[in-house]
Amino acid sequence: MPESTDSNYKLSVVIPMYNEEAGAAECVRRVDKVVSEMGCQYELIFVNDGSRDKTLQILIGEKEKNPNVRIIDLSRNFGHQLAIRAGIEHSTGDALIVIDGDLQDPPELFPDMVRKWRQEGFDIVHARRKTRQGISAFADARAKLFYQILSSISTVDIPRDVGDFRLISKPVIDNLKKMREQQPYVRGQAAWVGYPSTIIEYDREKRFAGEPQYTLMKLLHLCFSGITGFSRLPLRLGIYLGALLFAVGILFVLLLLIYKNRIIAWAPSVIAISFVGSLQSFVIGIIGEYLAIVLDHSRGRPLYVVKNKY
Ligand code: UDP
Ligand code: MG
Repeated sequence: MPESTDSNYKLSVVIPMYNEEAGAAECVRRVDKVVSEMGCQYELIFVNDGSRDKTLQILIGEKEKNPNVRIIDLSRNFGHQLAIRAGIEHSTGDALIVIDGDLQDPPELFPDMVRKWRQEGFDIVHARRKTRQGISAFADARAKLFYQILSSISTVDIPRDVGDFRLISKPVIDNLKKMREQQPYVRGQAAWVGYPSTIIEYDREKRFAGEPQYTLMKLLHLCFSGITGFSRLPLRLGIYLGALLFAVGILFVLLLLIYKNRIIAWAPSVIAISFVGSLQSFVIGIIGEYLAIVLDHSRGRPLYVVKNKY
């Protein structure tokens, strides 16, 4: 048992797996070693996301040796985020930790994460990537830029440089289960739910084995889900653009009034184009606002989340 004797809880670990045959057995071994030493009840939920290699067979072999292993085998490749969702929906623990199956995120952080939850009262413990090994400087900069853009335009406070490696407690799990959007961006959803949260930092390791399963298309899809799910800015662009063009039109009207016939001959055309363009952008922006409301309805997120009643 570790330093804490508090073991009266059940921990679920959700591990999405797509073509991870080279590292699957090591992943089970390393995660199980950490969790079994914590002394709590636990389940390791491996979600096989339509792997085309021997990942499933290896996991079935591991399950025969270890009753804490559970396998959710999806019918095809649904993608990382939906695999995580499937794991969350099948979890039965008092808290849950999502971790990648390639051992880039160290399971050795689990005791610290659980301590933040059990002893310090945080319902969400995000793990922030201080450094990332095994990826190019370009990919590192690209990831940082995306997190920066998203956190500056999103309607909720989504922590930067935080992937899906996090602990969430039962109240957060229950609320996440109610969020049934089609293209979930789980990191945004966890932030949306609220509750006290904290961040611990770690150095992201290289993959233990195998190749990255995130293709550029999958990465773009993830970015798109993040932006469309948690920002209204793209839908509002029309209004901002309309206002900008209107200001340009007004500026040229003023220039024309001030400088009279000394002004360039094309000024009236600029004024006409600016005003017509502004009107069109504005109307599109207004349609965007209505669309945002329709989108919110179709997502069906809860209107608010009650934490306690006294
Ligand atoms: N993964 C998945 N479905 C996919 C792509 C990836 O379940 O369609 C899993 C993959 O097996 C790994 C985790 O998601 O456990 C993260 O994927 P990857 O390591 O390729 O992403 P990166 O670490 O490069 O961001
Ligand atoms: Mg990885």
